[in-house]
Amino acid sequence: MKTSISDLVRGVLQSDRRSIARLITLIEDQEPEAFLALKQIFPATGRAYVIGITGPPGAGKSTLVDKLAKHLRRQGCSVGIIAVDPTSPFSGGAILGDRVRMADLAIDPGVFIRSMASRGSLGGLSWATADAVKVLDAGGMDYIFVETVGVGQAEVEIARHADLTLVTLVPGLGDEIQAMKAGVLEIGDLLVVNKADREGADRLVLELETMLDLSRHENSSRPAIVKTVGTTGEGIGFLWKKIEERLISMKASGELANRRKERLRQEVLEIWQRQLWQVIDSRLAGENVDRLLERIVKRQIDPYTAVEQILASIPPRFKNLWGGELRMQIRKIDHLGIAVKSLADALSFYENILGLKSAGTEVVEDQKVKVAFLPVGDSEIELLESTTADGPIAKFIEKKGEGLHHIALRVDDLEAALAELKEKGVRLIDTEPRYGAGGARIAFLHPQAGRGVLLELTERQE
Ligand code: ZN
Repeated sequence: MKTSISDLVRGVLQSDRRSIARLITLIEDQEPEAFLALKQIFPATGRAYVIGITGPPGAGKSTLVDKLAKHLRRQGCSVGIIAVDPTSPFSGGAILGDRVRMADLAIDPGVFIRSMASRGSLGGLSWATADAVKVLDAGGMDYIFVETVGVGQAEVEIARHADLTLVTLVPGLGDEIQAMKAGVLEIGDLLVVNKADREGADRLVLELETMLDLSRHENSSRPAIVKTVGTTGEGIGFLWKKIEERLISMKASGELANRRKERLRQEVLEIWQRQLWQVIDSRLAGENVDRLLERIVKRQIDPYTAVEQILASIPPRFKNLWGGELRMQIRKIDHLGIAVKSLADALSFYENILGLKSAGTEVVEDQKVKVAFLPVGDSEIELLESTTADGPIAKFIEKKGEGLHHIALRVDDLEAALAELKEKGVRLIDTEPRYGAGGARIAFLHPQAGRGVLLELTERQE
């Protein structure tokens, strides 16, 4: 059975490993449920420290992360590890191969390890990684390591999601210079010379010092250089001390808060861009882009005006655009509309016999009806009497007799709901909202859509 979103969210918040793993998979697949769950877990994020680790392949990053994780476990902290491989098209097993030696960590309930790999665009991966970090954060991890393979633009992108980034280098690989060229050093808050028992370690440290003298900007604090031997664990305690020191000073100076704020700003801009693109894309499809192009070719319209027209056709109050089926939310049955010949006669039954209380009668000119609303629990019964012989209610009674006329469903955003229904090709009676009884904004769907039942959508201030 499929778990519901609320179950999934509850599971993540209770640090349930299966829920955490499942939500990350949904994120990788960009499933609509992922966005709904991410919305709900967001208040529980922002607690974990996120540490990025990058550097050339073979620099021993995984081993370093292992050792750091174990160090933190001994201090009673929980640890999440996300291993990102932008070069691999497969997920789930991409980096797990060289994670075999982490078997003891993998069975530790205080450690969560996950591999993520490129599925399509790099931008998508960077974004999915950021969302996966949120899941681990909401899942209660104290520290989250984001480990990337390689030294390219992808690593820089992914490092943007970290509070602090370690750049790992090793002597004798010949990759150092390349790494510097790629600008990876610019993102390093700490530089780690791993495999420091190898020859050339001191020379590398010296090279890096010189490099830092030349390239660092004055306003960013100079990164410390730490020597480690990942395999033996030498220098790990000192490295962690340096990481902690850096985090503490970043916290004190406000730099940490600034970085996090900047990260959220970038995220909002990215979501905004993606969302807008989606809307424009769907509009273009709806507009029949060929027809539009034809007009441009014939010089009946210029490309600028064409785009202006597309933009103008976007509903001003669109929201909840994530996730196809799940955008519109029906809150409850707002009321049941019953067509009656005489309001007074009907009220004598509903009030005197059933004991309901009318909240008053009202004439809705627009629909040629006089209505009475009788609250029933969380919903209401609406009695409708036609004010003219040719009104829709009169015609309804003429055809079918008195009886249930419509079911009204409460929505939060009527315009968005209508836009969505239109987009999905649902037949509507009202394509624009109009005003119903009690100042509510309403719109009717075609009875065919409701399978023979006239459905009304209602948006009202409670
Ligand atoms: Zn109604």
